[in-house]
Amino acid sequence: MKKILIANRGEIAIRVMRTAKRMGIKTVAVYSEADKYAPFVRYADEAFLLGPAPSDESYLRMDKIIEIAKTTNTDGIHPGYGFLSENAEFSKMVSDAGIKFIGPKPHAIKVMGSKLAAKKTVKAFDIPMVPGTDEAITDVKAAKSIALEIGYPILIKASAGGGGKGMRVVEEESQFEEQMELAISEATSSFGDGSVFIEKYIGSPRHIEVQVLADQHDNVIHLFERECSVQRRHQKVVEEAPSAVLNETQRKDIGQAAVDVARSCQYEGAGTVEFILDTDGSFYFLEMNTRLQVEHPVTEMITNVDLVEQQINIARGEKLSIQQDDLKIQGHSIELRVYAEDPENKFLPSIGTLNKYILPEGEGVRVDDAFEEGMDIPIYYDPMIAKLIVYADSRIACIEKMKRAINDYKIEGIETTLNFGQFVMHHEAFVSGDFNTHFVKNYFNEEGKKKYLEPEAPLAAAMAIQFIHDQKTKIQLPRRSSNNWQKR
Ligand code: ADP
Repeated sequence: MKKILIANRGEIAIRVMRTAKRMGIKTVAVYSEADKYAPFVRYADEAFLLGPAPSDESYLRMDKIIEIAKTTNTDGIHPGYGFLSENAEFSKMVSDAGIKFIGPKPHAIKVMGSKLAAKKTVKAFDIPMVPGTDEAITDVKAAKSIALEIGYPILIKASAGGGGKGMRVVEEESQFEEQMELAISEATSSFGDGSVFIEKYIGSPRHIEVQVLADQHDNVIHLFERECSVQRRHQKVVEEAPSAVLNETQRKDIGQAAVDVARSCQYEGAGTVEFILDTDGSFYFLEMNTRLQVEHPVTEMITNVDLVEQQINIARGEKLSIQQDDLKIQGHSIELRVYAEDPENKFLPSIGTLNKYILPEGEGVRVDDAFEEGMDIPIYYDPMIAKLIVYADSRIACIEKMKRAINDYKIEGIETTLNFGQFVMHHEAFVSGDFNTHFVKNYFNEEGKKKYLEPEAPLAAAMAIQFIHDQKTKIQLPRRSSNNWQKR
């Protein structure tokens, strides 16, 4: 592969290009009118305008993207995340055009794109699943009696749902029919597929996902787990690797389950298998994301594996150069998604201009971003400004490093999730590791904010943590020479 086109924008476009450049591969950017002056456009060796700002006239134009790839003699297309990354038709169109799709084959994308098809596919591999129905509900009466068997509350889920959308909790039997009707009509209008199913509602779940890599020669490995339980609207804001709660046996079991899920759909490339972990330690398969995840850097930090490089090697048909036993967890990493959102106003998008934009620096601090001072946050796309990733030799040192990095990150002109990140890093539930997906609902309220965001509170917490840190981390890990991001 001598040249790749990145069918995406923003931080992920730069992230992919950075590895490509290091591997001596030329890069092609495609962009919309809203991104004309964006850094990722300048960062590429060549750049081509796709069309107006709305995604369906630009980043979702499969025909145009493939045409540009052909005229520029591109050998591979990397879809990033979002946009066309989980579009089976695009994967097929790219291959049919004689270009390598840097991602899985259409079959795996299709199967895992439907929660019901995914459940059916993994069943033969004995993967633990949340109790519930594994077929689309056609008979509401029959479904109601299954719900009663499972026990309320239950969750109605849209098979084609994604991004935290298409889920409804039903607290009691009397609401069942009404919620079911609403769920079906919502699924039909939002996803064009009215299939819904039910699952037991796990009251205090943790979101644990496993990174996998699979080559075209039947080799599949996992790169341990990421914990993504701090969410708002069922969407992640803070992620870390490893999880603070898994023991070695659970880690091995969940890793093996993820490898089996990847095998069940003949997976190729980098993928993520998502599970929920119940309070009793049982874990259940949720879904597989057939692409690079937003939060992939925390895995890169603790394994020292460049996942984009692996994706490119796999697409070139190479055998995996790493074996399961080569991998060891080294240290700890936390990522904060810095969104242009106002946590004080239900995390609603905060639009405006970056009047001030100063990045934090230092060893073990990595910022994946695509903005510069003076730029506007476009309203057309996801409001993520950057990913702030920190690495340290222990979880507690990592939390401390994140606090300092948030402090050094100066953004003015818009509201962001930086302050919320500071709240999380100071909160005793996060620090102790005893939290679940209801973190925001349970703690990010007036009382909690008073306790953790008032001037003297962080100081007291910081002193306590510094003490634990001093006791625990006397041993320093060797400097990791091949970590490209520390050079930023
Ligand atoms: P999506 O495809 O929209 O991301 P997922 O199935 O991956 O949907 O679930 C997203 C989030 O919703 C999970 O991280 C978890 O917080 C919550 N969730 C999903 N299924 C359940 C369940 N059965 N019980 C409780 N929470 C759930």
